[in-house]
Amino acid sequence: MSGLKRSWVSSANGAGCPFPLNNLPYGVFSTGDQEPRCGVAIGDMILDMAAVQARGLIDLGAPDLFDMPYWNDVMELGPKGWTALRARLLQILAEGAPEQAELAPCLVPMAEAELHMPIAVSEFTDFYAGRHHATNVGTMFRGAENALPPNWLHIPIGYNGRASTVVVSGTDVIRPNGQIKPPGADRPVFGPCARLDFELEVGAIVGGNTEMGQMLSVADADAMIFGYVLLNDWSARDIQAWEYQPLGPFQAKAFATTISPWIVSAAALAPFRTPTPTREVPLLPYLAEPGPTLFDIDLSVAIQPKGAPRATTICRTNYREMYYSAAQQLAHHASSGCAMNVGDLLGSGTVSGPERENRGSMLEISWGGKEPLTLETGESRSFLEDGDTVTLSGAAQGRGYTIGFGACSGTIRPARNFDQRGDHP
Ligand code: CA
Repeated sequence: MSGLKRSWVSSANGAGCPFPLNNLPYGVFSTGDQEPRCGVAIGDMILDMAAVQARGLIDLGAPDLFDMPYWNDVMELGPKGWTALRARLLQILAEGAPEQAELAPCLVPMAEAELHMPIAVSEFTDFYAGRHHATNVGTMFRGAENALPPNWLHIPIGYNGRASTVVVSGTDVIRPNGQIKPPGADRPVFGPCARLDFELEVGAIVGGNTEMGQMLSVADADAMIFGYVLLNDWSARDIQAWEYQPLGPFQAKAFATTISPWIVSAAALAPFRTPTPTREVPLLPYLAEPGPTLFDIDLSVAIQPKGAPRATTICRTNYREMYYSAAQQLAHHASSGCAMNVGDLLGSGTVSGPERENRGSMLEISWGGKEPLTLETGESRSFLEDGDTVTLSGAAQGRGYTIGFGACSGTIRPARNFDQRGDHP
């Protein structure tokens, strides 16, 4: 693992900076009344890629790649284009680069920019690949003896979610309404979710296309992943408990999914590759891991109630805890012949670890509401309250540098009632 790569953008060389030259994550930003466009984080600045291309400082063989509100066009270039892009950025942003004087006007202070969704999400699929999470949830719902469903050790379980409500960090989350069947009641009621939860996940962004009927090896799938973001799969546990049989979650997950604003490329994470855990039962050959396909990324969750002076960290875990990697999930996704597209987003599943402090959802932390958590600022929580801000953080720790993701944050707003349902078209 090589050390810090030094940049002429001096803030990128600071200890603990989440965006050193080693990282170079991809986002979409705007300033003032300008349209959102592609940018690269470096230190406390954003490199305006549209301006860089306009000055002729980067040439990937296609015009207007970056004067766009998403990175999908860059993803369409494929892995060769991604490698060329990263190589050129490493060159022109490195300490001593002759392009410094020409490039400096293309830098925008991050503090002055608004961040937007980095990709146009084609479709969103969420998996259930954390063994500790699946065991905890299964124990609560079915008892310790039957915690893992019989298929779990063989297949990366997932469901097709909604792309329409994937939002960038900083977007408020409106408490969902839904059908809820209170314990002991004969019939369901319709109303605001009372057991609102987060799920700490990592999102993988698919950067290639497959045709209907085309299968992928795990190695091919791994090479198709453009990068990774933090992902909060907001969940309405009371709605979920009533609706989930037999087809899995529906409205309980459809109301919001938040992602962090910066796509950390698979190349930036290469030094942090780590294998999936030892198999309890062998996987079918099409899911076999060709080399390490997980990543060593420290993850945490903090909650800050409205008016509280500070946030409390309530979970610390690591992405290497997953039983299946994103590459295995993508290979499985395509295995039936399902066509995959540039901009598809795959949620890892909740990344819980073995101990209570490693649990990546309130459902697990409060053990279904039976063991409420006390925050450092005194508030008690079994599930999320209106005004709570939930922030996911992630960092891979290199020797002398950090690969950060930027915050994945959302604040809960009160549920709407039918008088506030809005005008129908
Ligand atoms: Ca999930």
